[in-house]
Amino acid sequence: AWAAAVGRRQVLLAEPRAFCAGVERAIEVVERALEIYGAPVYVRKQIVHNAHVVADLASRGAIFVEELDEVPGGSTVVFSAHGVAPAVWDQAGERGLSVIDATCPLVEKVHTEARRFTARGDTVLLIGHSGHEEVDGTLGEAPGRITLVESSADVGSLDVPDPERVTYLMQTTLALDEAAEVVDALTERFPAIVGPGSTDICYATSNRQNAVRKVAEEAQLVLVVGSANSANSVRLVEVSRRDGVEAHLVGDVGDVHLSWLAGVDTIGISAGASAPPSLVNELLTALSGLGATDVSVRSVGTETLAFHLPKELRRPAPAPV
Ligand code: SF4
Repeated sequence: AWAAAVGRRQVLLAEPRAFCAGVERAIEVVERALEIYGAPVYVRKQIVHNAHVVADLASRGAIFVEELDEVPGGSTVVFSAHGVAPAVWDQAGERGLSVIDATCPLVEKVHTEARRFTARGDTVLLIGHSGHEEVDGTLGEAPGRITLVESSADVGSLDVPDPERVTYLMQTTLALDEAAEVVDALTERFPAIVGPGSTDICYATSNRQNAVRKVAEEAQLVLVVGSANSANSVRLVEVSRRDGVEAHLVGDVGDVHLSWLAGVDTIGISAGASAPPSLVNELLTALSGLGATDVSVRSVGTETLAFHLPKELRRPAPAPV
């Protein structure tokens, strides 16, 4: 396989790729909390869905737990980028925990919409994937009054008390094309349905999907760097395959099978919003070890968004000189 994988190749880098603003902020929250409070800092769930990020922070003193009952009373705990249900905040209060919330502001926006729509009596339909932490958190805003819709096939069997008062929301990391299909099915069944003010699929998800589709137009193989539990990384693989290109998710360069590269002279590369850019660089280095590579970028635009840290972690303003 090694010999067949060797050769001159073109590598097309999708831009944007790798870390988004919400992930950078969440990682910085844990780093700053370690600086300010010292180790250990407890983190509920993986701070972002990437095994390398989690291992790195764990080596620096973060302790990742699944649920708050694993955190000693009185400790500081960070909530992950995916957001939590209000019941988790209540539990933290009962246990006397200090919370630093690393929920992405764009996930928080969906929670705010969920509260607003259910408070005015709407039935809320959340388009998303069952079992994802973000979905659990959003559903928890109004237990029993938000229904999960996973695909257009679910739409026919929905039981809604008043079809004139139905709203839909979305998980932030859906595939644009699939979400549009579900919205079409919902609109056909409930013509009065109302959506969020602007789409809930976040800018980082949309940009990475549009960029990977651009490289998929030219590539024979697409490699997406990301962990298997990263929803937006998995979507990048799926949209590439729907565009007819062989595509694989790789946690890092060690997951690449040389047999995939045999006979391939144009490789597209992207990385999910939770994947560190350094893992892409390692992949490029390994590919160049198999033969000369001409690396070029296929861009759908650059991202400049950055989010403020939670106020308890902001550095004091420098003293005036
Ligand atoms: Fe926020 Fe989108 Fe990044 Fe998720 S993928 S952390 S919603 S910016």
